This record gives sequence, C-alpha cells and structure tokens, in this order.
Amino acid sequence: MPDNSGYSIKIVHLYPDLLNLYGDRGNIACMQKRLEWRGIRADIETCTNKDHSIDLKSADIIFVGGGSDREQEIVCNLLLKKKDELKTYVESGGVLVAVCGGYQLLGKYYKTAATKIEGLDILDIYTDSGDTRLISNVVLECDKFDMPIVGFENHAGRTYLGEGVTPLGKVRYGNGNTGDSGYEGVLYKNVIATYLHGPLLPKNPQLCDYILLRALERKYPGFEGLKPLDDSLEETANSYIAGKYVK
Ligand code: GLN
Repeated sequence: MPDNSGYSIKIVHLYPDLLNLYGDRGNIACMQKRLEWRGIRADIETCTNKDHSIDLKSADIIFVGGGSDREQEIVCNLLLKKKDELKTYVESGGVLVAVCGGYQLLGKYYKTAATKIEGLDILDIYTDSGDTRLISNVVLECDKFDMPIVGFENHAGRTYLGEGVTPLGKVRYGNGNTGDSGYEGVLYKNVIATYLHGPLLPKNPQLCDYILLRALERKYPGFEGLKPLDDSLEETANSYIAGKYVK
C-alpha cells in the first residue's frame, strides 16, 4: 500500500466571498480532509475581493464556485486581470475545478438577457441564458469512474461545448449543460468544470480522488498513487441518491 505521508498540496480558493452558492466551499473541506487522512499536508489560500495578492504559479489546485449573475460579473472582471496567468496554469496541466458560475466564466462569454459577460476564454465553450432555470438533482455516468456522479444543479445558462473540450459525463437524470444535449460539464486537460453545486465532492469520492491524484502527479512526477480510504459512508450516500433517480 502506498505511504502518502510527507507530501503537500496547495489549494487556492478563488473569491469564496463572492462565489459560494449552496456551500461550494464544502469541496475545499473535502479535498483537505481526504489529503490529511493520507498524511498529505493541505495548505489553503484564499483570494478575495479584499485581498487579490495570490501567486497562482504556486497553486496545485485552483477552485472557483458559483453564484448569481451579478457576483459572477464582478469575479469575471477581477479574473480577466489574471487571464494570462490562469491560461498558462491550465495549459501546463494545472488542476482547476470550477462550479456553475465559475464554470461559465471559463468560456468565451456568458450572455444574459441584460448583458454579455466576457469570459476568460480558457475553455472552448460559451453560455447563453435561457428563459427558464434548469433546477434538478442530477445523476451522471462518467467513464472514468465506476460510481455515478451525483449532485444538484440550478442555472439559467445553457453551455455549448466546442470541439476542443469533452463533457464530464452523460446525463442519466437531470438537465446538464443545455437541458437537451445529454451531457454535463467539461473535462479539458486537468480542468474539471461542472454545473453540480454545493459540496459535490463528499458525495463523489472517486471524483475528489481523481482531482487530488492529478495534482499530486503533476507536482511529484512518479507519485506512487493514493492510499485507499474507507469510503463506505460516501458510497452509501452516493448509491442512495443515484438509486432514487435512476432505476
Ligand atoms: N448565474 C448563473 C446562471 O444562472 C450561474 C448560477 C449558479 O452559479 N448557480 O446560469
């Protein structure tokens, strides 16, 4: 069994003071705990509207949550100043996890009825707001994992994917990227972007470990693999939700 002690990972949380709908911050706690349970140190740094002084180059995982259109626009304008730095990070295999509003702002633009918010153009996607909100529990099938990905979505935006990216999963229940494409989220290099809100990772330990492993392998070439954890509680929660919506 691999001994993971002695490693460390720096997680940068972008603008939790503006984008933290449904407790997206729980994903940080989950990543931190799953690292610490293996003896890996987790350093959490926060970039807020009051303190932007963050060095993205030293990040191993960057996380950005979701929020209202208004807050999303503020964050978008702030992140446009870090656009080149973020793009370099992503293109060099940096791990970036983005939820809902955070997902949308990685694309070319997010067009609402009122305005068009310029995106960071990191992902080959764009988002148009629809007349209705897509609100649902969600169950996805993802060929990287044997467990389904379960979560909750609430968005007006419909996100259209270009050739350069692949979806995170196939929708088994819920709406996903557009409501009718049959797909949800995006995987691009080590970017994991999804509409699934709130503490997504505690219910999806395989997705959480996928994120942690990508970061550890990038920082420590030849990393020997993650020490297994007892995930029986997480597996019970995941299969309860999945079984409720997909027969
Ligand atoms: N404001 C975006 C939308 O409604 C994102 C919402 C969210 O992050 N839940 O599509």
